[in-house]
Amino acid sequence: MMSGKGFVNGFFGDYGGSFVPEGIQLRLDELMEGYQKAREDSSFLEELQRLFSDYVGRPSALTECRNISEELGGGRLFLKREDLNHTGAHKINNALGQALLAKRMGKKEIIAETGAGMHGTASATVAALMGMKCTVYMGAVDVERQEPNVHRMKVLGAEVVAVQHGQKTLKEAVDSALEAWMNNDNAFYLLGSVVGPHPYPLMVRDFQSVIGREARAQVLGREGKLPRTIVACVGGGSNAIGLFSGFLDDPDVELVGVEPGGKGMKYGEHAATLSVGEPGVIHGFRTYVLSDEKGEPAEVYSIASGLDYPGVGPEHAHLKDIERAMYVNVSDSETMDAFSLLCKKEGIIPALESSHALAYAFKVLPGMKRDDILLVNLSGRGDKDMPIVRDILNF
Ligand SMILES: *Cc1c(COP(=O)(O)O)cnc(C)c1O
Repeated sequence: MMSGKGFVNGFFGDYGGSFVPEGIQLRLDELMEGYQKAREDSSFLEELQRLFSDYVGRPSALTECRNISEELGGGRLFLKREDLNHTGAHKINNALGQALLAKRMGKKEIIAETGAGMHGTASATVAALMGMKCTVYMGAVDVERQEPNVHRMKVLGAEVVAVQHGQKTLKEAVDSALEAWMNNDNAFYLLGSVVGPHPYPLMVRDFQSVIGREARAQVLGREGKLPRTIVACVGGGSNAIGLFSGFLDDPDVELVGVEPGGKGMKYGEHAATLSVGEPGVIHGFRTYVLSDEKGEPAEVYSIASGLDYPGVGPEHAHLKDIERAMYVNVSDSETMDAFSLLCKKEGIIPALESSHALAYAFKVLPGMKRDDILLVNLSGRGDKDMPIVRDILNF
């Protein structure tokens, strides 16, 4: 842990760092010290591993999609099934790691932001497990779009605060959560992705790296070789970096991150930060950012609430610049087609976030060789998306 290619002093190449007010920096220093100690403590790592297996249900399955390969031709498609984790997505891996750390640091309370509600649900879950109070900040628009998850958080005992300013989505939820954290000594800020100031991008990557470690061992153990290409959707970038981290030292494995192309590449209609954004600072760290003419974070949109963020994890920005990973985007309609195909052909309902990765995979699979392996991280299950899907598919 706490290492990585090109990682120096809180920066991945030119990206990352910590650009925050003094009040928050003091909290970050305390967090860094706490994390530094925890990750060197074998009892902390053993406890986390025990929770991964007994509570989350890890290792998550590796599933080959034979029907899809038959339908589309070309290479073989495998899914890393993070949708089968307790609470239905990869978010629980990180939430458990941070909650264990919070407890170790003597904190009594969890503060979290959430977009689609999956991280909020994971945070409410781990807070219940650890006997801590939990407050989740969620944009008012997302509260409406993701009603089932709001109910889940409430039954788990969390308080959900609907954020009413700006675009009322994920960016504003992060702003409000950071402010609440600054004003509360007893609270631990449980950040949901590989974003924010150091040490969050590194710490969240460490907790999500279990995805890549497992996937590499599973594919290698079963097939005797590595995948040719691995694909994951990118919102903040945590499920993608979790997968990629297992394969960074395998130069022949192609890494592809898929961003939301939304309704088109016009301003306000997508959230394809690495495709069209430029280096800048957002939420206290340096990365690629989508900005408006005034230099403020741009309006962003995606059919998948979990992906509409105008920044991206700093390690992805670095991997793009050094060309170790490739970043592409797919549209809402390509995403919906991919969603439907996986449901109908494999009997698996994917999250709309994960369906972005599938959409790219379905485009390139037919052009691959028969024994090439394409591995997609199925970051979450799609049950939460039924209200949106119903409106689009008209039933
Ligand atoms: C939150 C979420 C994402 C996006 O977050 P990353 O940090 O980019 O992984 C993707 N898929 C699902 C199912 C999510 O809940």
